[in-house]
Amino acid sequence: MEDSKPGSPGRKRNPPERGEGPFQKIFEEGPLGMALVDLDFRFIRVSSRLCDMLGYSEQELLNLTFPEITHPDDVEKDVHLANQVFRGEIPHYRIEKRYIRKDQSMVWVALTASVIRDGKGAALYGLAMVEDITDHRNAGQEQVRLERLRALGEMAQGVAHNFNNMLVSVLGYAQLIQLRATDPVLTQYADQIVDGALRAKAMVERLNQSVREEEKDTLYPVPVQEVVQDVVETVRPRWKDEPEARGVSIEVKTELEPVPAVRGTHAGLRDVLRNLLFNAVDALREGGAIVIGARNRGEVVELTVRDTGVGMDEETRRRIFEPFFTTKADVGTGLGLSTVYGTVSRWGGKIEVQSARGKGTTVTLRLPAWAGPVLVEEKPAPALVPHSSILIVDDDQTVCQFFAGLLSSDHSVETAYSGEAALDRFSPGMYEIAFVDLGMPGMPGNELARKMKELDSEIVVVLITGWDLVEGDPRMAPFDFRLKKPLSTVRDLAGMVAEAAALHRQRKGDSPA
Ligand code: ADP
Ligand code: MG
Repeated sequence: MEDSKPGSPGRKRNPPERGEGPFQKIFEEGPLGMALVDLDFRFIRVSSRLCDMLGYSEQELLNLTFPEITHPDDVEKDVHLANQVFRGEIPHYRIEKRYIRKDQSMVWVALTASVIRDGKGAALYGLAMVEDITDHRNAGQEQVRLERLRALGEMAQGVAHNFNNMLVSVLGYAQLIQLRATDPVLTQYADQIVDGALRAKAMVERLNQSVREEEKDTLYPVPVQEVVQDVVETVRPRWKDEPEARGVSIEVKTELEPVPAVRGTHAGLRDVLRNLLFNAVDALREGGAIVIGARNRGEVVELTVRDTGVGMDEETRRRIFEPFFTTKADVGTGLGLSTVYGTVSRWGGKIEVQSARGKGTTVTLRLPAWAGPVLVEEKPAPALVPHSSILIVDDDQTVCQFFAGLLSSDHSVETAYSGEAALDRFSPGMYEIAFVDLGMPGMPGNELARKMKELDSEIVVVLITGWDLVEGDPRMAPFDFRLKKPLSTVRDLAGMVAEAAALHRQRKGDSPA
């Protein structure tokens, strides 16, 4: 016998009389949703609890069959079992399944079904008892999802660490080629390698940022409105100019109630908002609107980013916080939301995403408001690097020139190509900072450093090295700092000069005048 589909003719039964006794009470007022269905799966009696669960009125439900409001993936199993019960092959069954409510949302239920027969044993009705287990299931799934995120995070961290070490040598040698190659074609190739390696480095850094667990940032009160306005303005090219060039128009609106500052970092909140905004823009392929809202919820500030874009199906929505999960072939990194998740969790906040295919997306952040003292300034302005006198000593003239080129716009810079040449011109107080290569023909760098310090106890000497020296290598002793060649950014060098200058000022202040 085939499984019958709803609507097969000739099996219609009239519903049983509505009684008044205790059983009627159990049906109507018991803790479970109850339903009687006929052999075509049409509802013929439903309890008010079931109506509430499914979001339909009694009359509406009585015009429906259960497969019509069951999640498509669960219909087959449920219908198959129901037919087995009707045929007497099994006495009853219990399954977990999904109903689609009238408002199209989903409810998970545990359903127990059996059959009511007439005196001759012919099936009359199916009886279903239904318990809403949505919350229970979500809690379990949330747990699984968190574990999965944690495991992925650990793996990603391991990969990032190893990958970074490999990048050091790729980047290093490519930069050496850049410095030494005289053939312009080779230089171009090296530029490409450096470019790629720097992008990889940036990605590894983002990955690290998204998965690192410990609290490294000092948290400050961050003014939400200001940051929102600022981000909206600074990424205007991305939501306005670029889409417009493609003939698509995107409108960004803000609905910002007065809210307290949140506990976080400026840079962190900017990054979070940029990521959410970029995702919203990506979802608005045909144009549309993005609304950024802020609301005061007492101890929590609620920030929402809502778009009218393509939305996501349930499967996508479940995975969006995983590092590297992306549906944007070629252009996506899949690190946007995992970073957002990392940042928001570190701040003790919560993030929630509501979305449906074709129905747009709303991301809601709940960020703890700043509860500490009212601070005026978030961070001291970065100290200006004071003008310094700098000596660069490296037997490789190209390296010398390269460093001198980078530093000479802000500082007085001299170069020497050997330790001997450096000492020849050296006198105490002449330089504040010296950058010295280690391996040079003639006097090695560490000896030069030692001699300079004998002559001038205040000078700060920085080792420039292409190698990884083991911590505690005796050759390191006369140096105050170590700067790794190749530089990954020019800012590294500026930062080093700032540190060295600060140490020099300190030594000068400490020594008797
Ligand atoms: P990426 O943007 O690089 O793909 P994300 O971590 O930022 O990485 O996002 C992961 C995935 O989540 C996206 O590829 C997309 O499928 C989905 N997603 C995120 N935000 C939205 C949104 N506003 N609308 C639709 N899908 C989104
Ligand atoms: Mg993104």
